[in-house]
This record gives sequence, C-alpha cells and structure tokens, in this order.
Amino acid sequence: MTHPDPARVEQVRAGLAAVRDRIEAACDRAGRSPEEISLVAVTKTYPASDVRILASLGVTDVGENRDQEAAPKAAETADLGLTWHFVGQLQTNKAKSVASYADVVHSVDRARLARALGGRAAEAGRRLTCLIQVNLDQDSRAGVIGPRGGVDPDDALELAARIEEHEALTLGGVMAVAPREGDPSVAFARLREVAGRVRDRYSLATMISAGMSGDLEAAIEQGATHLRLGAALLGNREPIVG
Ligand SMILES: *Cc1c(COP(=O)(O)O)cnc(C)c1O
Repeated sequence: MTHPDPARVEQVRAGLAAVRDRIEAACDRAGRSPEEISLVAVTKTYPASDVRILASLGVTDVGENRDQEAAPKAAETADLGLTWHFVGQLQTNKAKSVASYADVVHSVDRARLARALGGRAAEAGRRLTCLIQVNLDQDSRAGVIGPRGGVDPDDALELAARIEEHEALTLGGVMAVAPREGDPSVAFARLREVAGRVRDRYSLATMISAGMSGDLEAAIEQGATHLRLGAALLGNREPIVG
C-alpha cells in the first residue's frame, strides 16, 4: 500500500480539528453535548486515499452521493470497516449496488425506493438503516419535485410505514438539505417537528441528519444528530462540469 501524502494528512487533520471546534462551540450555545453529534465525512469527488486518511484520524462514518463513485471507493477501502452512508438521490436501478455496501441510506423519498432497497438488502443478507428525506423547500413543493428531493413533510409518516414493512430495513429517522434560499434555522426547525412526529410513532427512529459545511451550527441548534460534511473537512470541490 502506498504511503499517504504527509501534507494532505495535515490538511485533513486541520479540517477535522476546525470542524470539531465549530461543533463544540455550537453545542455550547445549544446546551448540547458534542457526544450527541455524529460526523459523516462526505468524500464525493475525493479519492479513496482521503478516505484512508480520514479513517487514520478516527473518522468512522463516510458518505457519498453517487453510486458510480461510491461503489468502487467502498470496495477499495473495505478493509477499514467503515460505516457507509448514501446521501444522494437514488434511482431504484441502483438499489442492488447500494444495498451491497451502504449501511445507512439518508435519501429514501418514495415507497418504490424503499421496496427496492428492502428487496435487494434481503437478497444480499444485509440490513439497511433508512432515513426519510424531507423536502424543506416550499417553492419546489409548490411546483415540480425540487432538485434536492424529499417527501412533503405531511407525507413522512406514510413513508415511514412503507419502510417499516420491510424486514431488511430499519427506520432510522429523517434527513434534509436546507433550501438554497432563506434561513437554515427555520428550515431545520421544520425538520425537527417532522422528526418529532416520526419518533412519536417509531421510538427508535431518533436520527436527524441535517447540516452541511455551511449550516452545521443551525442544524445543531435544531437538534441534528448527524452532520454530513464535505468541503469543511476536505476542501472545496471543483465545480462538476457537464
Ligand atoms: C455534498 C453533500 C454534502 C456535503 O456538503 P458540503 O457542503 O461539502 O459539506 C451533504 N449532503 C449531501 C446530500 C451532499 O450531496
């Protein structure tokens, strides 16, 4: 195995330290403990060598948003025993691949996808924790499906029931991406309310996946349990062309 680039190790170490400081400060303000917060390192566009560096620095959870990229990266780093989170929009024809390496799917937004994941996970003898992706963008709900995906908040309980029908699926809680416009605290407060309704019926569904590099403070203030962080850890991604 090749040795990690020492300069890159230091960059990632600094990113991780800065993120931990932000989490601690936000927890202080919110009267929460940093132990309540899990960090999912989103490694999209970054190489498997960065996944190794993150793991060497104590990161246990990594996330990806495209199966084409996630599947080979998960295979290359299988020896690390990491927990893999799938966080992007997912087509049912990718369910078989995702069910083969993912432990948590944050982006379950329709019954058909739950059925596909439930069937594929069962075939593979695996269990998947599923989060209901909630659409917090009023504008996109009013029109066509928003680019960021997710169910209408009023439909979350119905989808929860559909997920729970599958033996191989465990309902973990809810996930959302803050809308591009507006105050993320307001959006995440709405997510917290949906999370409460789901948890009232399914007491083990306690996860709230919210907060990215730009809005992790607002997410912590509104009860997030899982932060999905890419840029703050690994640097800004090149814009994807095409
Ligand atoms: C890329 C991505 C993230 C991480 O975003 P950063 O701004 O890089 O922290 C989180 N969630 C989802 C769904 C993503 O696609």
